[in-house]
Amino acid sequence: MPKTSRMTSTKPIVIDESGCAHYWQIQSPSGSTSGGVCKRCGETRSFFNSAQALAEARAAAELAAAEVAANA
Ligand SMILES: [Zn+2]
Repeated sequence: MPKTSRMTSTKPIVIDESGCAHYWQIQSPSGSTSGGVCKRCGETRSFFNSAQALAEARAAAELAAAEVAANA
């Protein structure tokens, strides 16, 4: 299967459970993330500006999940 370079960092298009093939318009970076607004449905989302920022956010999310599990 051929590997093509993925140029999705600026305009990632993902169909989610809402049924919208979001068309993200990425705004100016703010800190480690950039705000994105779907031009089709108006949904907002934060996009990470770097792999490091993404890794840090994932680590924080895992920590939060672990805390929730511990409290359950
Ligand atoms: Zn959308």
